[in-house]
Amino acid sequence: MFVLLALTLACTPAPAGKVVVLGLDGLEYTMLDRLIGAGELPNFARLMEEGVRGEMEVTTPIMSPILWTTIASGYPADVHGIGGWTTGHGHSFSGADVRVNRIWDVASGAGAHVVVSGWLMTWPATPLNGFMLSERFVWSYPMNKDPAEKSVGLESAVDRVATTSPDALAARAEALRPDDAWIATSPLAYQVRQYGAPFHPLIRDETHVRVFESLWPEADARFGAVYLNGADQVSHMYWSYSDRGVQEMIRKDPAAHAAAAQAGSKPGRRLAPYADGIDMDELVEAGRYVPDYYRYLDTVVGRVRALVGADTTLVVLSDHGFRVSSAQPLTNGSHNDTAVFLAAGRAVKPGRIKLHVFDVAPTLYALLGLPAAADMPGKVLTDAFDVTPVPTVPSHRLPRVAVEAGASGGGLADDQLRDQLEALGYIDAEGLPDASIGQSRKLR
Ligand SMILES: [Zn+2]
Repeated sequence: MFVLLALTLACTPAPAGKVVVLGLDGLEYTMLDRLIGAGELPNFARLMEEGVRGEMEVTTPIMSPILWTTIASGYPADVHGIGGWTTGHGHSFSGADVRVNRIWDVASGAGAHVVVSGWLMTWPATPLNGFMLSERFVWSYPMNKDPAEKSVGLESAVDRVATTSPDALAARAEALRPDDAWIATSPLAYQVRQYGAPFHPLIRDETHVRVFESLWPEADARFGAVYLNGADQVSHMYWSYSDRGVQEMIRKDPAAHAAAAQAGSKPGRRLAPYADGIDMDELVEAGRYVPDYYRYLDTVVGRVRALVGADTTLVVLSDHGFRVSSAQPLTNGSHNDTAVFLAAGRAVKPGRIKLHVFDVAPTLYALLGLPAAADMPGKVLTDAFDVTPVPTVPSHRLPRVAVEAGASGGGLADDQLRDQLEALGYIDAEGLPDASIGQSRKLR
């Protein structure tokens, strides 16, 4: 008996544990490597030294709402239901269009607590076993939007409903929003001054981080997800200026840059940066925008890693990278199809890997000890993590009736999911979590 038990222990993976995902929209390896090579970004550098570094291939079209929903669900756009920012018929995609359960829905349905802060397509915030701050809690406008066109409709009362779950989280999150004094001392203060709220992303990103920092210690959560979009916003407008080749081109021919910036200024958009000409001091400042935002994100990685500790698996990833635009190289950054995937902490096997964006969700499920679905296209990254997947369920798609009602997620309410989890022994017939799962599952 003892021998058998010992053998069983030797062959079974580490018990299911905590997983936190920090999503950094548009984060690009070439910029990380350049700054780390200059002795900067100590927290990213440590993450790469101690953990997994993955080159992640993503699906096209490279659009953030599609990819972040794929990351959180494991499904492609035609299954998860988010086709971009808008349908092109005046409808903005939202969480109500998501036709699959995302990881927090499944974890919550299995009785685990979750904390979700700012993730794309989480408005309206759904009832969960834990906390959800939707991405519409702090309203953001694109940095390049004309401030004079700031529309009132988008901030209407109806859109202020259900920005958090539970509702009481809203007051708490409001109190955590960074104030003017904090912004003034931030190394990014010059950017916020230039663009102002709600256009510059710092206030929103910092709020998402603070809400997570405030909730995680008390939530006793198994799964956490935080989303920041500042790197994407700043890179769209300033990536070119941080590129040494482009800097050289502008230095040689500032008039060509001014012409390109003028040509890129469109109705409804803010005048492109330096459209009335750029001098060499301004070129230096323009070149700081993206690296300075990366320096801020490095401090966020350090804060989150210290908070969650080494017994949690921390995944830091992006949905796409950035490069100089081939159409407008002097003024624009464009999405790159290789994304960042870094992981450290529990169950991580340090090294370099290649992966596909479809592999993220099945791997997160395996780390959580929860079932991925057989109809997901990705695979568990067993070369990078010391995990053995639990048996899959047929699907994490929502039943048709829930899709038609526009009810997304709702991990506590989804009967089909409940039945599947119950069948696997994750919850008992009364719907309560099985307390033995996690610590002692391998001994059963
Ligand atoms: Zn993106």
